[in-house]
Amino acid sequence: MKGDMYLAWSSDSEILNRSENGGIVTSLLKFVLDTKRVDAVLAVKARGDDRYDGGPVLITDPSELIETAGSLHCSSPNIARFLKEYLGGAFDMKLAVVGKPCDIRGTIELVKREQVNLDNLFLIGLNCSGTLSPVVAKRTIIEEFGVDPLNIIHEDIEDGNLIIMLKDGTEKTKDLKALEEKGYGRRENCRRCEIKIPTMADIACGKWGTSNKKATFVEICSDKGAELFEEAIKAGYIAVEHADDKAIKERKEKEQEAIESALKWEKTDFAPLKNMAIEEKFDYWWGQFSQCIKCYGCRDACPICYCKDCILEADRGVVMPGEVPPNAMFPMIRIAHVMDSCLNCGQCQDACPAGIPLTRLIFMLNKELYGIFKYQPGVDVASRPPLRSITDEELTIPGVELVF
Ligand SMILES: Cc1cc2nc3c(=O)[nH]c(=O)nc-3n(C[C@H](O)[C@H](O)[C@H](O)COP(=O)(O)OP(=O)(O)OC[C@H]3O[C@@H](n4cnc5c(N)ncnc54)[C@H](O)[C@@H]3O)c2cc1C
Ligand code: SF4
Ligand code: SF4
Ligand code: SF4
Repeated sequence: MKGDMYLAWSSDSEILNRSENGGIVTSLLKFVLDTKRVDAVLAVKARGDDRYDGGPVLITDPSELIETAGSLHCSSPNIARFLKEYLGGAFDMKLAVVGKPCDIRGTIELVKREQVNLDNLFLIGLNCSGTLSPVVAKRTIIEEFGVDPLNIIHEDIEDGNLIIMLKDGTEKTKDLKALEEKGYGRRENCRRCEIKIPTMADIACGKWGTSNKKATFVEICSDKGAELFEEAIKAGYIAVEHADDKAIKERKEKEQEAIESALKWEKTDFAPLKNMAIEEKFDYWWGQFSQCIKCYGCRDACPICYCKDCILEADRGVVMPGEVPPNAMFPMIRIAHVMDSCLNCGQCQDACPAGIPLTRLIFMLNKELYGIFKYQPGVDVASRPPLRSITDEELTIPGVELVF
């Protein structure tokens, strides 16, 4: 039932061998496809042998699932956007979707905007300490580990370390904080991401609490998840034991450590921006936005930008055609449209060819709004984004201006 926690293993030896931990994610995906509970599965797979080039895949043939087993820490596919853009928001098909907390939260925000049909989804969440961009990952491996990135067969983040495993079976470890202070390591948004266990999914899977045993730690997060999990046990796809107090405590402590580190990074990233004098802030942000080439990449990558008739298009008359950089309304409108629901997913900043720190700004504003409305995006499907539900009366309350 909802809230139950297990250590669990795949009953299939090939899945168990190829998977990241206990192979529960791949086994559940296989179970739902074999038994036709879903039409397809949305998971992530490396293209060819390249661990640095992982992307979303839609699988209908259960025999292909084995290729998705394992975690890719140097890929940040935009699962929620893919689901909406290319799979019609699951209005016409039943899907099992695997994702990290930001992927699942993006999906939930799209459900609220009626862009995704939650009734047709099984959401299988993965705990997450962060991803590295493929370019920075390769630089980190070459410049800090002195290793050829193509010689890596696995990477992981554990106890504050970045660990790489080479083809010959040797492991190398470096302190992640020290790497990140030098500009290597995880994506900037991941460093300050505080939502590590995706309890907004139907089932949350991770390695924390397994004491490095070949098992997946599973938390059941919904009635739908409970039913699926029980049926997979009955059908013999997986074997389980209840997580004991030690395992639950270990998982909680690791989650807490990761959250504390995220909050420290948040202060480090935001303090210089918040401490600027108002004129300095203006110069800084205008200097950033004057580099914008109006490619629309940030809008197109954002999981929560969804308007079909976007006001930023030239034919709407707000942003003039042929003007680069665009006038100030371009960044202002985009920011205003997404800041109450920003997930800190980093997709806009990753997409920006001008290197504008978009996520840093929008998430910083989101945190300010959190202080006012206590709205945490993507966590509870029933709660509404505040700037969509605010009343005229509330807008007149003094002292709620945001200055950036
Ligand atoms: C980037 C990342 C960081 C993680 N950090 C932690 C952590 O700090 N603590 C913790 O407890 N657990 C973490 N996990 C979860 C852990 O690595 C396992 O995915 C989880 O325990 C399930 O194991 P499994 O053997 O059941 O999964 P498997 O059966 O091996 O299946 C893994 C699934 O993960 C999907 N996947 C692989 N890479 C990605 C990706 N980049 N984005 C989205 N989906 C992906 C695949 O499609 C596959 O379906 C992380 C996972 C990822 C992807
Ligand atoms: S934003 Fe958070 S959930 Fe998403 S990849 Fe980064 S650390 Fe993981
Ligand atoms: S504004 Fe950027 S960080 Fe925020 S949800 Fe959109 S893409 Fe993600
Ligand atoms: S991605 Fe960057 S350059 Fe492109 S429109 Fe957005 S802010 Fe401008």
